[in-house]
Amino acid sequence: MRIRALRIFLLLTLLYAWSAQVFASEALSLLEFGSKYKVQISYDPVTACGQMEQRGVFVSFAPGTPFIVLDWQNLRKVEAPFWDKGTLMLPAGFVVEASTYFSERNAPKKEAYSVATILIDAGHGGKDSGAVATVNGKQLMEKNLTLEVSKRVADLLRSRYPERKIITTRDNDSFPSLDDRVAMANSAGLGMKETVIYVSIHANASFNKNAKGYEVWYLNPEYRRTVVDAETVREKGSEIAPILNAMLEEEFTTESIILARKVYDRLGLAIGASSPGRGIRAEEWFVVRNAKMPSILIEMGFITHPEEGKLLANSSYLRKIGDAIYNGIIDFIEHFES
Ligand SMILES: [Zn+2]
Repeated sequence: MRIRALRIFLLLTLLYAWSAQVFASEALSLLEFGSKYKVQISYDPVTACGQMEQRGVFVSFAPGTPFIVLDWQNLRKVEAPFWDKGTLMLPAGFVVEASTYFSERNAPKKEAYSVATILIDAGHGGKDSGAVATVNGKQLMEKNLTLEVSKRVADLLRSRYPERKIITTRDNDSFPSLDDRVAMANSAGLGMKETVIYVSIHANASFNKNAKGYEVWYLNPEYRRTVVDAETVREKGSEIAPILNAMLEEEFTTESIILARKVYDRLGLAIGASSPGRGIRAEEWFVVRNAKMPSILIEMGFITHPEEGKLLANSSYLRKIGDAIYNGIIDFIEHFES
């Protein structure tokens, strides 16, 4: 008997939920949505992409695209927005998904965005020595310098942030391929409000013995990264990928530039007296291009330069560099999470 009553109750609940759904299921214009949910709206007719923002929470959308991007990183299937006599309309399914996301993210007990994972990549390794030079009669290999610095940075980060995941792409003289490193970077499991930062450490070499100094690289903003992975493209069709990428990439680039700047400034403070800053640079390169996160590459200096090579052969100098990279990462995290 109790079971039957429960069934009827469940049925009524379902009916009620269904009817509520039906009544809620009308399309709203973009402006109606904005005023109803107190959301700032922007729409760029050139890229045909739009954004909604409510207290720092972002939803990106594009007319005709049955997906939205939540805070630049997560995709959610929705009914596609469509044009109706010059007005951009948001179907009920879209309205439900977007408004629910805003209310969840902006619920009173809101946690801040956090850097959950930091990946430190010691460049080269194993059979790949990286740059090689003879310093003080001994062979100096880039792979050993990058490992030493990366260990220093990771140790400092682990003691500062015991609750965060600090991953190194290698802890010994192994050789993870570029694909392996990218996979490590992209596989860090993340919650909704979490991000990963990726820092790759290298040392430079040049035929020009006068070349000297440190530099920090980030991804060229003009380069269209394949942020959306191959599986997504297979599932949703390739024509959708450029739109989604356009929505996602701007945020990654901005964060990468800020991370590059923070680390570069710290390197200047730490080693600027003996090594010139060669600037913050932008280029496409493999590891960063495929990593879905703010990413930088640091060139610590030239092992081929007569004086800088000697500095880089010295553990206390490498320690200084490690400390500077660590401090730059801390600066970035404080900026990012504030
Ligand atoms: Zn290198």
